[in-house]
Amino acid sequence: MEGWDVSVWDLRSDTVTKPCDEMRRAMAEAVVGDDVYEEDPTVRELEALGARLLGKEAALFVASGTMGNLIALLTHCGRGQGAVVGARSHIYNYEGGGMAALGGVMPLVVDDGTGLPSTEDLLGACRDASNVHFVEARLLCLENTHNASGGRAASPEAMEPLCALAREKGLSVHLDGARVFNAAVALGVDACRYGALVDSVQICLSKGLGAPVGSLLCGDGTFVREARKWRKRLGGGMRQAGVLAAAGLVALRSRIDRLAEDHEKARRLSLLLRREGLDLLDIPDATNMIYFRLPRGTEPHRFVDLCRNEGVLVGFPARDLVRLVTHLDLPEEAVDDVARSLVKAVRAL
Ligand SMILES: *Cc1c(COP(=O)(O)O)cnc(C)c1O
Repeated sequence: MEGWDVSVWDLRSDTVTKPCDEMRRAMAEAVVGDDVYEEDPTVRELEALGARLLGKEAALFVASGTMGNLIALLTHCGRGQGAVVGARSHIYNYEGGGMAALGGVMPLVVDDGTGLPSTEDLLGACRDASNVHFVEARLLCLENTHNASGGRAASPEAMEPLCALAREKGLSVHLDGARVFNAAVALGVDACRYGALVDSVQICLSKGLGAPVGSLLCGDGTFVREARKWRKRLGGGMRQAGVLAAAGLVALRSRIDRLAEDHEKARRLSLLLRREGLDLLDIPDATNMIYFRLPRGTEPHRFVDLCRNEGVLVGFPARDLVRLVTHLDLPEEAVDDVARSLVKAVRAL
């Protein structure tokens, strides 16, 4: 494709996006200082902007989404305390069990098959902590958009009863908002509305927003002061981190509304694939992800190889489900090509 020097389209994840020239220039020209001394003006600017976008008092620049979630868990919970997490959540499945390994935090697992747990299940996880048998639930973790249920966006109205119940039961609420701006853009709501419902939010700069590195953990001033100490303990206190934060600033200033284009590309791609008879999951309030089932008995490796031969990289199938993610390095003009290649790969099975 003209202007795009690629031989394959990479739809494994939106994390594969590369920093654009504007970001690279901003990184090269960033004014920096020692951020452990809180003297890096670019990091401070990024943290202030992130906090403002989520309607929070403060934010902390961290190396990754995993680190942001882990620091939130460590700040909200002590050893032997419980955090309510979804059975299919990123925190529970894809973060190396950090909450247990490093925090001694007990996961209290609830069903989140449709993206959010039910209030009944949340209530069931909050058992009477005065009984010596039971772990004390301290935190509810929600994820939006919810990766495993298809990148589904949950509205603030849908989250509200869970957050209210958590608060009533004395739990804090953390939002794994790796892609919360995808949710906000898809549903046309201000991200501050999500921020207002929870005590802390982790947002990823390095996914659909296109920055090369980094996440922000947002919360009130006291929370972020404590989180800063956890970040240092984990070895995440970076010095002239402004060179990284500069790319994050470009991401937050000019890449949020653009996420709608990724959603549109996903919509078009699902339409084309469905038309060709592929078995797509029906995802309400879809964003930038598509999931489809492989024919029964397919060897996932074989399908991944066939796709690669056709010039498309796909997420490695979990069981028989293939994930495709649209992002800013997949031009709109390539969507039809990608669909054709995928259909060819399926037909070759
Ligand atoms: C990617 C992701 C994370 C972790 O972010 P990393 O920067 O890859 O560590 C956390 N939660 C969700 C929902 C994610 O998609």
